[in-house]
Amino acid sequence: MGDHCVFCKITRGEVPSNKVYEDEKFLAFTDIHPAAPTHVLVIPKEHVETVEDIPSGNPMVSLLAERAVRVAKQLNLREGYRLVINHGDNGGQTVYHLHLHLLGGRFMAWPPG
Ligand code: AMP
Ligand code: ZN
Repeated sequence: MGDHCVFCKITRGEVPSNKVYEDEKFLAFTDIHPAAPTHVLVIPKEHVETVEDIPSGNPMVSLLAERAVRVAKQLNLREGYRLVINHGDNGGQTVYHLHLHLLGGRFMAWPPG
């Protein structure tokens, strides 16, 4: 599982990335097409396709958010930031390995386009 997944390849070091955080189970790296001055993706190293694949009661999203908050503090996003999980085609998901977007460094308009 995850043999051809670009984020699994990043986890294995087969595709380069600009890592900003790493621990045993999670990794954070900068987005290759940044949508804001700071745009970081936080991923589980384990291949999980989408937010719907997280088993009931599993704290995955909370653990991802915790890492994102850590990175936001590390990068000094004192004026705020946005955390986003896209799901499925209409949600704008393009990489089917669960990831949390951390966006900051500018005012993030709401609602999004
Ligand atoms: P999503 O559209 O929510 O699935 O987000 C996928 C994100 O992954 C997009 O913002 C892409 O720019 C980003 N992305 C795709 N490939 C890479 C890569 N090799 N390194 C860093 N970011 C990537
Ligand atoms: Zn994967």
